[in-house]
Amino acid sequence: MNLLIKGGRVIDPSQGIDDTLDVLVAEGKIKEVGKGLKAAGTETVDAKGMLVVPGLIDMHVHLRDPGLEYKEDIASGTRAAAAGGFTSIACMPNCKPVNDNKTVTAYILDKARKEGVVNVFPIGAITQGSKGEAMAEMGELKEAGCVAVSDDGHPVANAELMRRSLEYARGMGIMVISHAEEKALVGEGVMNEGFTSTELGLKGIPRVAEDIATARDVFLAEYTASPVHIAHVSTEGSVRIVREAKARGVKVTCETAPHYFSLTDDAVRGYNTNAKMNPPLREAGDVAAVKIGLADGTIDAIATDHAPHHLDEKESEFNLALNGIIGLETSLSLSLKLVEEGVLDLGTLVGKMSCSPAKILGIERGTLNAGAAADITVIDPDREWVVTEEGLASKSKNSPWLGEKMKGCAAYTIVGGKIVYKRG
Ligand SMILES: [Zn+2]
Repeated sequence: MNLLIKGGRVIDPSQGIDDTLDVLVAEGKIKEVGKGLKAAGTETVDAKGMLVVPGLIDMHVHLRDPGLEYKEDIASGTRAAAAGGFTSIACMPNCKPVNDNKTVTAYILDKARKEGVVNVFPIGAITQGSKGEAMAEMGELKEAGCVAVSDDGHPVANAELMRRSLEYARGMGIMVISHAEEKALVGEGVMNEGFTSTELGLKGIPRVAEDIATARDVFLAEYTASPVHIAHVSTEGSVRIVREAKARGVKVTCETAPHYFSLTDDAVRGYNTNAKMNPPLREAGDVAAVKIGLADGTIDAIATDHAPHHLDEKESEFNLALNGIIGLETSLSLSLKLVEEGVLDLGTLVGKMSCSPAKILGIERGTLNAGAAADITVIDPDREWVVTEEGLASKSKNSPWLGEKMKGCAAYTIVGGKIVYKRG
């Protein structure tokens, strides 16, 4: 199927493009990007006033499939991704069973092919069952189609095992994604440790629980000359550690999530379980540090950590509620705010939501280069909308932004030249 996207502001950092242009798609690939393109008998998308960018990529998603489909499944999760403007997502292995072998990887890829509307790139486990005891078969996982390994949800507590995993993964040419958390310091904490946790009488998780674990994995990466990617950076300390490591040439990359630059732990007031996640929402100084880290290039990518949970798992006492929030459908609006605030320019933002995650995962996406897969997001930057339970495509509704007004959204999400989502 052919498609002509006319007159949008095309922003493609992979080629240094920012201009009013047309994009012609043929047979699922980008055919040409240029001025005044014509193609007889082609479906046309009028993109005047819109941004046309390489399809957005979310490198940190929990699809809950197999095993926890009451929270989300590959069909609903990829529909939520498309509604959020994402053309590719990478899914974490903490499904049931854990994706630590080729059978689970093959199941995910097969179901994604049949029921998914966006590209799904599985992430395998670092250790068997993500139990932190013995390394998983990384070679098998890579061969089966995994683009990275992570025990996300848990840290690899044993530093020696993490060292071996980094060395082995480097040999395999597969990225290790670190969930950086020192459990002994987390204890029974349920929110950020600080003024608010004291006021609310809730047990706190100190920042240093994240900082120490980030530092450990950065040092291990440096010592073994292996790349490492730090997931969901939320503290001033983690940002500083990664910045300093990059400056001395360590092969470290990292991501943050929209909630870490949009909210502080004040959102927990009222014992709001939709503000409970791990790492927890921090304080104003951390939010400022995350924004500086995004602006100065320390933080490479914005990922959602989309973590769907059933209402029953969130409508409980704060201490018992499960960690995590959904994020696929609000990420673009919250990230566009960074442009409005002057933290990032549009090109840099698109880089962090498309080109960078593609590069980190080593997937051939994140570009509008001729010949590339026609994964394209058309963004309406001015459109206002309200987050409602009914409006969300995700099976789960655990968002701290329910009822809130957002600005900017995906107008069209195009995967392999096919329109998979169109804003009504
Ligand atoms: Zn994690």
